[in-house]
Amino acid sequence: EQTDIADMLEEVADRFSFQLRQKSIRIRIVAEPGIRPVALDRDKIDQVLDNLVSNAIKYTPDEGAITIYARMAEGGQLEISVQDTGIGIPKKDQPRIFDRFYRVDKARSRNMGGTGLGLSIAREIVKAHGGAMSLESEPGSGTKVTFMLPVLPEEENAS
Ligand code: ATP
Ligand code: MG
Repeated sequence: EQTDIADMLEEVADRFSFQLRQKSIRIRIVAEPGIRPVALDRDKIDQVLDNLVSNAIKYTPDEGAITIYARMAEGGQLEISVQDTGIGIPKKDQPRIFDRFYRVDKARSRNMGGTGLGLSIAREIVKAHGGAMSLESEPGSGTKVTFMLPVLPEEENAS
């Protein structure tokens, strides 16, 4: 079963259309040419994407923007990033942000809902698929979470 990556990303955006509209947040999908359909655990990767997009919406003020990028990276890895123009994550918190239950200052997150498990679960899923997840964030200007997934070379992909 092969997944078309651009379709998969459009579908994530569709699942959040209500919340996006509510906050007047624009979402853009940028899939580089040359991304071929890949075999992946669709339910699990959807769970990862839903976590990242829900964070991006939650921590981005009204009128902001979210961009999802996809490209084939070195070594036949699929790279997907979710970038927002939100509040960002303080440098001191960044090393712990993938820890279970870790949330940036309780006051800031209290009214946001959630448990602080989303990112740790997302990273576990990606690791279980042999990939890696990382984060870049600038407080006050935005956050970009990137994950890489190994995908089979084309010739081993036939079926
Ligand atoms: P849950 O995902 O369980 O609903 P959560 O969103 O608080 O709760 P995580 O997704 O694990 O938990 O994120 C951990 C913390 O990292 C968040 O509480 C928030 O402080 C910070 N964070 C995550 N994503 C972003 C983002 N895109 N912009 C700013 N801060 C973020
Ligand atoms: Mg979350």
